[in-house]
Amino acid sequence: MDARTLAALAANPGCGRRALLDAAGVDKGAVAEHLGRPAPFGQSQFSIVRGNAFEARVKADGCAELLRLLCERLGLPAPDEAALPDLSAVGPAGRAERTRQALEEATAAGGWSLLDHPMLRLEVAGSAVHLEPDAVVVRPDGRWTVVEIKSFPILDGCADPAKVGAAARQSAVYVLALRALAERIGRGEPEHTVVLVCPKDFSNLPTCAAVDVRKQLSVTVRQLTRLTRVEDIVSELPEGTTFDLALDDDRRTPRRPVEELAAAVDAVPAAYAPDCLSVCELAFHCRARAHECGAVEALGRGVRGELGALASVDEVLAAAAAGLGGAWQADGEGSAPAEHVSGGGCGVGGGTDAHGYAEDGGDFGGGDFGGGDFSGGDRRDFGDDAVTWRLREAARLRAEALAGTAAGGRA
Ligand code: SF4
Repeated sequence: MDARTLAALAANPGCGRRALLDAAGVDKGAVAEHLGRPAPFGQSQFSIVRGNAFEARVKADGCAELLRLLCERLGLPAPDEAALPDLSAVGPAGRAERTRQALEEATAAGGWSLLDHPMLRLEVAGSAVHLEPDAVVVRPDGRWTVVEIKSFPILDGCADPAKVGAAARQSAVYVLALRALAERIGRGEPEHTVVLVCPKDFSNLPTCAAVDVRKQLSVTVRQLTRLTRVEDIVSELPEGTTFDLALDDDRRTPRRPVEELAAAVDAVPAAYAPDCLSVCELAFHCRARAHECGAVEALGRGVRGELGALASVDEVLAAAAAGLGGAWQADGEGSAPAEHVSGGGCGVGGGTDAHGYAEDGGDFGGGDFGGGDFSGGDRRDFGDDAVTWRLREAARLRAEALAGTAAGGRA
């Protein structure tokens, strides 16, 4: 598990399926492909090669250019020299221990040091996770700064906000691991501002930007504490559950019956949300399952939160129809609102996902649907039962949106 995986996991801490498959090192992309629902996810080979070439350029000449950029960004004079400790060791645990020693020595020395690909350790839901940032710079005053090198460009001082957000979440995980280490060794001050190094404009020249990850840090801390322990997830599974693809002798062709694999995957509870589409290889499978059972999760976390105990689209529509005395008839779409909109709900799932993703695509699902101004109904209809009133209003608003989308699709 790497920081990118961990950040994605922290974005959806309620998903036992992802937590278990990641912890078990299962290739989720291969599983999704065998299930017939591969997701176009991950970096292309071209991006990986381009990214590696850019990082090599940034770190050439003993990271001189990287240090120059960093000092320029921080408004500090570039150092005449900086230590580049050797961090090689056997295995992740050995490298993590070597990194600890190097950080301790560099901080005590009081000079500039640059740790190239250090290995950090973080306890997550009772398991140790090893993380590898691109670099950590130790400053003479004992502050530690995370450096992330990305291949997406900064064009005229601006970069793709989604990519910057993903990099910030990833870097926040590194800062968290550094904080834990600083606490353990009793020295060092990890900074909450990380430095992002990217190609400038359309060139291959590096430039950098400082990114404050305090918000991502607090969200990550909160979310990671909500992760279910893997042992607890496993204990709930049927005996003998496995995600083995039963590869053929060519080590490439899966032989496991698809239904059997699907049953194993579906045995682990999931928590689908539209933002899964940008972070998880199983997103198309989980989305299809959510649509099949009409789960309101497919409509986004904001909607799901507003609907409380109403778990399916059918339940929502029934509540809306019962509570609002014929609102459906008023839209001219006939007298069978549940069937009509249920069909539309499945049909517009993708579109709704795209909308929900935009809403939820910030820092771990901050999306909101109707933040409290439920002015469309009459609260007095429900007496003092404010919760019922809010739920029914949310259901009505959502159902109207679905009906509008479905009507627009037919127009
Ligand atoms: S796509 Fe499925 S497995 Fe992946 S995080 Fe979402 S719900 Fe979990």
